[in-house]
Amino acid sequence: MQIILSSNNAKKIQELKAILGNENISGYQEFLGEVEIVEDAMSFEENAFLKARGIFDLLRLEGDFVILADDSGLCVEALGGMPGVYSARFADIEENAQSILQNRFIPPKRFLGDTQNNLKLLQCLKELKINSSSAKFVCSIAMCARIKGERIEKSFCGELLGEVRIAPLNPLAFGYDPLFVPKGYTVTLDQIREKNTFSHRFLALQQCKAFLENLQ
Ligand code: IMP
Repeated sequence: MQIILSSNNAKKIQELKAILGNENISGYQEFLGEVEIVEDAMSFEENAFLKARGIFDLLRLEGDFVILADDSGLCVEALGGMPGVYSARFADIEENAQSILQNRFIPPKRFLGDTQNNLKLLQCLKELKINSSSAKFVCSIAMCARIKGERIEKSFCGELLGEVRIAPLNPLAFGYDPLFVPKGYTVTLDQIREKNTFSHRFLALQQCKAFLENLQ
């Protein structure tokens, strides 16, 4: 089965490929070049479907294929679940932690980089005068496929519980990994080699794989 990933995030693509472990996986860019899809929905699942359907509709492929899109993010309890769907663009929020908690902020538009996002999160913890907070990573995988000539859509969700804490930044790491300690661990996610065997992304993709295997 040909699997095409709908993502512009190189570190995310690397993890998706490592977890899927399938040779027949490509980025949509091989067919279309880079496309910008506006992710303006209020849930991970809806945003994932925007990306999966967007690429499905643009591709003119013959035969069966599967588009997978991952929308994911970090939900911090002390911030009322933020940055959530704004995880990639968090640093573009100018308002402080109190305003964010009261839902008084201008929706961010730009991705300013993982380091800036981490700095924004550290700044929020500082403003709230806390060193750590319960948090979770959420991953929603949307699948938009043509299988045996029929269009099929389905979504899968995985969560990874833990906490965010004040910790050193790591410019080589993915997203908020340097500030997140998974439940049952004492170190941050960027230092855990086996991340891809238990992460939110792994859990969502396991369900997706099982679904696809059942169809064949
Ligand atoms: P998306 O590309 O709009 O889904 O944005 C996902 C954002 O959530 C990324 O840019 C990261 O900031 C964050 N994120 C999602 N999954 C992870 C992860 O596994 N580790 C660290 N950060 C993540």
